[in-house]
Amino acid sequence: MVNLKNVTVHYSSGIDALVDVNLHISEGEFVFIVGESGAGKSTLMKLMLRELTPSSGRVFVNNRNIGALKGNKIAMFRRTIGVVFQDFRLIEDYTVYENVAFALRVADSSSKTIRQRVPYVLNLVGLGSKAKSKVRELSGGEKQRVAIARALANDPGLLIVDEPTGNLDPKRSYEIVGLLKEINRCGTTVVMITHEHDLVQYFGGRIINLEKGVITFDETIGGSEDYYEE
Ligand code: ADP
Repeated sequence: MVNLKNVTVHYSSGIDALVDVNLHISEGEFVFIVGESGAGKSTLMKLMLRELTPSSGRVFVNNRNIGALKGNKIAMFRRTIGVVFQDFRLIEDYTVYENVAFALRVADSSSKTIRQRVPYVLNLVGLGSKAKSKVRELSGGEKQRVAIARALANDPGLLIVDEPTGNLDPKRSYEIVGLLKEINRCGTTVVMITHEHDLVQYFGGRIINLEKGVITFDETIGGSEDYYEE
């Protein structure tokens, strides 16, 4: 699904944000990307979204060398990936329904598809009853769910989630990761960027640790999910 081959990203400031990174993420995986601030996590995410191209090396998503994409092929490629940004990027004055419908409309979905798909993804994230609420009236955890629903609107094979628990209390954080795990069980590959070690230890799974642009750890660990109590 995602393949990085000897990828280095050199910024004009003189910093190497990623150094000769090799990484393979298979279809159906759930991967945590962890690392301190400045480790290169956002740079890795931008590479996977083709917001950046590597200074050297190649990035493949679904077996395509995405660095070679040009013009509107880049926009078309991005539509095949679901992204949940740290700041959500929702339209606050729109309803929950409209925010999700918007993602479908820009991807040229039919009205019929929109009418079917929006309630489906809202139910999936547990927000079926909030469809008519304005986003600005929602809690942080609910906004996060709207952002996830919108990212899933076009049924992407890959979902990238950037620090989804950054502004949430612990209980909501565990619920959001639980939801992402559920989405993964339904077949979507999930890459979650986080710096919250407790959460990662609790859920377990494949953990990729970045340090100064280098992968220093890439292993699957068992979680302690069964022992968590509020
Ligand atoms: P993280 O997401 O793990 O905090 P980043 O990928 O944002 O890490 O940053 C990795 C390194 O690259 C840091 O040293 C950061 O200061 C630097 N960096 C990130 N973006 C830019 C940029 N646009 N121009 C110059 N340096 C950058």
